[in-house]
Amino acid sequence: METKNPNVELRPSHTPAGQPIIYFTFDDGPAENTPDVLAALAENNAKATFFVLGGQVKAHPDLLRAEAEAGHYIANHTFSHPSLQGIARDIFMTEMTETAEIVQETVGDMFKLDGRMYLMRPPYGHTDDNTAVWARELGYDMVLWTIDPWDWNTPGTEAIVTQVLAEAQPGAIVLLHDGGGDRSQTAAALRQILPALAEQGYVFRNLYLGW
Ligand SMILES: [Zn+2]
Repeated sequence: METKNPNVELRPSHTPAGQPIIYFTFDDGPAENTPDVLAALAENNAKATFFVLGGQVKAHPDLLRAEAEAGHYIANHTFSHPSLQGIARDIFMTEMTETAEIVQETVGDMFKLDGRMYLMRPPYGHTDDNTAVWARELGYDMVLWTIDPWDWNTPGTEAIVTQVLAEAQPGAIVLLHDGGGDRSQTAAALRQILPALAEQGYVFRNLYLGW
């Protein structure tokens, strides 16, 4: 799957000091492997973005708070992970707003902007002509990715590491998963990827730099 992020040019590729930035993103959580992913990020002084499912937030509110407390950005990945391609407008709106409500209840006090999420990612990257328009109506920018090592398919830690390092470049958005299954390969891969990229001078930021 080759999908270009329509907003990628809005994300800076370098810090004001000239350091190259890579944006790590995690979908489908919070879930069992989230603490391990958070630990790997913390060990490497990395900030990331979690595209969370409302249903998972309901099950693991403590993990969502841990994400926010660590300075990671929280974004909307719908409530129950439907494909948004061809979805009815009222279902789209319910999926997005119910997720926003539970995130607000759980970590709203930790949002430093005006208490809400600004970014969304469609499950499976599936979209149609309505997706970005309806998301905008709710105040969201849609964010896809530029590097996808298919970690959800558990290809092995080395395969994840190899692909991310091969495709890394300033401004890249890496798609990984902390939910939807056993993501121990993803956490193990992070422990190799982050130090290797840091050695090349990269820093790791969340998709909303002000947060
Ligand atoms: Zn997903």
